[in-house]
Amino acid sequence: MASTAHYDYLIIGQGLAGSLLAWCLTQKAARVLVLDDGHATASSMVAAGLINPLAGMRFNHSPLVHDWLRSLEQTYNELAGLAGQDFLQWLDMLRLFRSAEQIRFYQRQKDKAGITMLIGEKLDSDNFPQPVQAPWGGFEQHRTGWVRLPKLLAFMAEWMQERDMLRHQTVDWNDLAPGDKGVTCNGIQADHAIFCDGYRSMHNPWFDWLPFAPDQGEILTLKRVSDQSLPDRIINGATWLLPVDKGRYRLGATHYHDRQDNQPTESGKERLLEGMEKLLRHPQALELERNDAGVRPATADRQPFIGTHPEQPRLHMFNGFGAHGSLTIPWYAQRMAAWLLSGDPLPQNADIRRYAQDA
Ligand SMILES: Cc1cc2nc3c(=O)[nH]c(=O)nc-3n(C[C@H](O)[C@H](O)[C@H](O)COP(=O)(O)OP(=O)(O)OC[C@H]3O[C@@H](n4cnc5c(N)ncnc54)[C@H](O)[C@@H]3O)c2cc1C
Repeated sequence: MASTAHYDYLIIGQGLAGSLLAWCLTQKAARVLVLDDGHATASSMVAAGLINPLAGMRFNHSPLVHDWLRSLEQTYNELAGLAGQDFLQWLDMLRLFRSAEQIRFYQRQKDKAGITMLIGEKLDSDNFPQPVQAPWGGFEQHRTGWVRLPKLLAFMAEWMQERDMLRHQTVDWNDLAPGDKGVTCNGIQADHAIFCDGYRSMHNPWFDWLPFAPDQGEILTLKRVSDQSLPDRIINGATWLLPVDKGRYRLGATHYHDRQDNQPTESGKERLLEGMEKLLRHPQALELERNDAGVRPATADRQPFIGTHPEQPRLHMFNGFGAHGSLTIPWYAQRMAAWLLSGDPLPQNADIRRYAQDA
């Protein structure tokens, strides 16, 4: 395709959000071009890709949880079929209580209609089924797992390159010129531009009225170095441990709201390793292989930022997926594509028009 081609949608950022939105739009025959800076700040490349529908200390769930689960299974499996490799791995999670109060939260959630398939039996500390230290006991969680995000992004990049719809380019927001008939950006012409650039969009002059709340995090990759027993399910206490491929484990994650860099630190590493010492019966069976850091594109009200600029109808945002992108992006990408292509209403919780008075 020549560089003067006209596109329906110009997407900035090829993280999970940009990749899945590009996929949804092209499935409906839209002409899409994606620009990415080589994943320079991609949190998708750092993330463990955990899928955990019961969030936080109180094990709350969103009313959208079943839509999210249905949609992610369909999308990741469809892409796996195309790629000939699996991206989604279902794996049960054992949640560890950290206080008597948390046991009460569990009991309250367990009785709620609609989530019985997510929340399992209470487990006593005496006969806890995994080699972990669980002084308060815990419970089983189902419909949890993880997504092989770097593999998925690499496949999506290859798929786009074969169709001439991905370019390695850093976009300067000031080079974007929206007008009545479309958007231009360094000679590229498109009907619309969509920002999928992760936390960097907090500096985007077109959308600087959106309250991003970036959440920097560090994560470790460990490898098994002995035969001592280690968990074969996801363990989630103050720290979480995820068994991944080839005898590797991911251990995470820290949260720093005052940092926006992707430099792992000695103190972050120590904090996570201390968490592992408290978590495992045999922490010496794991050895540190690497540590990574990234910035989650989190938001002040913990809801995504999706939709159209209130005064610039050619500019859009698909962002703000915080710590749960693997779970939520597949469903929101379908909704965003339906909004752009057919004008179907956006989910109100995520629509950026909730902040339009600040624009
Ligand atoms: C330590 C850590 C652990 C995490 N663990 C999990 C987890 O277990 N489960 C989960 O669901 N989520 C997790 N997350 C969050 C997850 O990473 C996000 O929810 C999700 O990946 C965000 O995807 P995105 O595409 O919106 O943003 P990103 O992945 O950040 O993608 C944005 C892309 O845009 C590019 N870009 C930015 N600016 C420009 C520009 N000007 N021009 C061109 N390209 C640009 C970036 O380089 C990047 O490639 C974790 C994050 C961190 C940091």
